[in-house]
Amino acid sequence: MSISNPDHLKSEIDELVPGLIAMRRDLHEHPELAFEEYRTAGIVADRLRALGMEVQTGVAKTGVIGLLHGDAGKEGAKTIAIRADMDALPIHELNMLDYRSQEDGKMHACGHDGHTSILLTVADILSKRRAELPGNVKFIFQPAEEKIGGAEPMVKEGAMQGVDGVIGLHLISNYQLGRVGVRAGTVFASADRFILHVHGKGGHAASPHEAVDPIVIAAYITTALQTLITRETSPFAPAIITIGRIVAGTAFNIIPEKAEMQGTMRAFTSEHRDKLMRRIRELAMGVATAMGGSCEMETFDSCPPCTNDATMTSLVHKAAAATVGEDHVDNGEEVMTTGSDDMAFFLNSVPGCYFIVGAHNEQNGAAFPHHHPRFNIGEEALPIAVEVLTRAAQDFLAQ
Ligand code: MN
Repeated sequence: MSISNPDHLKSEIDELVPGLIAMRRDLHEHPELAFEEYRTAGIVADRLRALGMEVQTGVAKTGVIGLLHGDAGKEGAKTIAIRADMDALPIHELNMLDYRSQEDGKMHACGHDGHTSILLTVADILSKRRAELPGNVKFIFQPAEEKIGGAEPMVKEGAMQGVDGVIGLHLISNYQLGRVGVRAGTVFASADRFILHVHGKGGHAASPHEAVDPIVIAAYITTALQTLITRETSPFAPAIITIGRIVAGTAFNIIPEKAEMQGTMRAFTSEHRDKLMRRIRELAMGVATAMGGSCEMETFDSCPPCTNDATMTSLVHKAAAATVGEDHVDNGEEVMTTGSDDMAFFLNSVPGCYFIVGAHNEQNGAAFPHHHPRFNIGEEALPIAVEVLTRAAQDFLAQ
């Protein structure tokens, strides 16, 4: 590892590591689901207040925002926002750790316990450096990432007002510990959930000619939807359409009235996303109509793609290289995921960068995928993340 910055940041972080890990384990033991993060938000607000920050609670129900005013800020000083998510998942933890979840059926299985602890530690460090800080830092702790529900209302309630740039990270359990992934452009896909309501005409299974079979229509639609990827999408533009659930019928000898198809669509640009959503509707309606039935499409709250700004990305890349060394920073496909994250709403408000920090560690069992009941993170990733965020924030304000 190269230490390009003789600012004692690494040794300062080293001293905070025991507290950082203790915080993460405490949050891990007490997971809270989306919009129920009362205990977590309380801890966060208390810690930020103790650091002398202006603290706003109850933003988007359980979100918390802390504002740190740098004393070295001149007129027109910039403000950077750093975002962490706080919610856990409805999963029953199967790890036998001494800090395993004490809440049956709830678990931090995506590393948000880590994200929250990391950002609290960055708040510790930067508030100690307040005197030389040439700008402001907004610490954003959002609720309900997992349900894609916390970020958008926070933005609507003004979280990004006065903010010039935003950064954040996701710990990744299947990405090598000691590596940081930073990439310009879209890194997390958009996600759109939809239901296709296919209407036919019920009847006796032995008299299909007197009925309109919605199950057969649903089968054709399922197959036809895949042509939107293979025939209508550029091979250089990744996208996904998955029908994950089809519900129809009550018995083997009855043709039902209707079929319900539930699916998800992922894309990497807003244009592609809009086009595919339009084409799913057109194709499903067209197929259904051609076969004598009909179809309506229902859509739900959805998530735009996370798209990183080039300038913010090079800022974070530089901070990552100063932390782990240039040869441990990735900017290729490994940084991209077809998963989604509502960090997108912050990134759509101001230029920003969402990056990943490797947390894969076979030795301590951090080898399971996200949302798995044996998920864990290599805690050695926590101080790395703290250092990258701290350096990036300082560099942003110093520019
Ligand atoms: Mn997550």
